[in-house]
Amino acid sequence: MAQATNIIELKHITKIFDDNGFAAVSDFNLEVKRGEFVTFLGPSGCGKTTTLRMIAGFDIPTEGEILLNGEDITKLPPNKRPINTVFQRYALFPHMNIYENIAFGLKQKKMPKDEITRKVKKVLELVDLEGFEHRKINTLSGGQQQRVAIARALVNEPEILLLDEPLGALDLKMRKEMQLELKAMHDELGITFIYVTHDQEEALTMSDKIVVMSEGRMQQIGTPEDIYNEPVNAFVADFIGDSNIFNGIMTGKCLARFCGAQWKCVDDIAEGTHITAVVRPEDINFTEPSKGTIQGVVTSVIFKGMHYEITVESGKNEIVIQSVYSAKIGDRVGMVVDPDNIHIMIAEDHTNFIIGSITKEYSLEYNDHVLDVDLKDLIPGSSRDSSGRLLDSNGEEIDIRRTKIQISIQPQDITMTDDIEQGLVEGYISNLIYKGDHYSYVIHTDLEQDFVVDDEYLWNMDDHVGLILPIEKMKFSVKK
Ligand code: ADP
Ligand code: MG
Repeated sequence: MAQATNIIELKHITKIFDDNGFAAVSDFNLEVKRGEFVTFLGPSGCGKTTTLRMIAGFDIPTEGEILLNGEDITKLPPNKRPINTVFQRYALFPHMNIYENIAFGLKQKKMPKDEITRKVKKVLELVDLEGFEHRKINTLSGGQQQRVAIARALVNEPEILLLDEPLGALDLKMRKEMQLELKAMHDELGITFIYVTHDQEEALTMSDKIVVMSEGRMQQIGTPEDIYNEPVNAFVADFIGDSNIFNGIMTGKCLARFCGAQWKCVDDIAEGTHITAVVRPEDINFTEPSKGTIQGVVTSVIFKGMHYEITVESGKNEIVIQSVYSAKIGDRVGMVVDPDNIHIMIAEDHTNFIIGSITKEYSLEYNDHVLDVDLKDLIPGSSRDSSGRLLDSNGEEIDIRRTKIQISIQPQDITMTDDIEQGLVEGYISNLIYKGDHYSYVIHTDLEQDFVVDDEYLWNMDDHVGLILPIEKMKFSVKK
């Protein structure tokens, strides 16, 4: 049989942990080629570790299958897979020396002693710890301990090395050094690395391919350049690198309006389409105010070594610019952007849908609250008779008791409050993206769905908030 070019394939993987029914990973599909360096990148809690644990065999998917060299290994125990994992916590035996730590697994497999010695020596050279065999673990620095953990995984000669935030516990300088060493190790060994990090810079530096994840789902997969230059949605644009993100609308052929002005762009999208525009801070240039597409006032200047990070207020928008030239707070400036550097995406529809039900008393309820709305306003052409019954245009009674009503409401029409009791719904902020003149929040609730809310004010991740949904902003339809 010809060798499969994909060493690992994940097909429609979903993982639900029994107790809550919540999907930590949803319909995840991935193909990894032999020898690739693939990185899972995303914020804490997005399902990176769970996905890695399923590849390693520590967790079994609820749905979907995992293929190794074309063969189904979905339920194969971890020790039967040619896969080893390096964790953030080193999990070394503190009372053993380096040699004993690395040799442990091989001794258990009853490998001949001279073969063990040879293999341990080889991996110690690889991680740059030759001659350290007899040092005790507790005399080593964090960086050295992580090298031992890597050596211990590599000594098994796995086909795939999984690394779960392996540098997370190291200081910045050590982390940078180890990034380069791991990359060199990958090139030298030629084996497949699947790496997990929440650090976008680390992912961009090390990977052949990046998988951006959010809330258990793959958002985008591509080379570091693809992900940086062509983010597919506002989440990816915001998560990778610094971005200015604006809501806008197409106003003509390759013309978009956002941030209070009309801009030439290179994307030919139908006039009237709602869009999200992304502009990287390094792509905005200063000019005299009269020559700028937009104007504004400098509100902060920070020296970053290679450039200045300058914040400009323009109308209600706050714009971040990287420039090799400095500016003074209070300066009035013009700003221009090359059309090539304006990245337009069709805006995602973030309409919130909830389902209310009509009680036998003809009131509309949602989440144990009665919504003060007259049912005749929900049913076009209906009226009420003197006894309060609902009638259609022919005077026939419409019995919609116990039916469901779909209610939709836009993100900008919902208000957040820290007075939880005041809200129709409560939840926790699980994501936020700055969009020039407002923030877009995702509110995680105990109900069937999460809510998207636009708000001018900055709240924090994990803030507990109540959501006020004004009835006059709701749209209703009878759910068949
Ligand atoms: P990441 O590694 O990206 O930070 P994880 O894969 O650890 O994310 O977790 C993803 C989601 O699954 C989180 O909401 C987490 O609370 C949940 N989760 C992870 N492991 C378990 C478990 N054993 N039981 C229940 N929920 C879990
Ligand atoms: Mg994790």
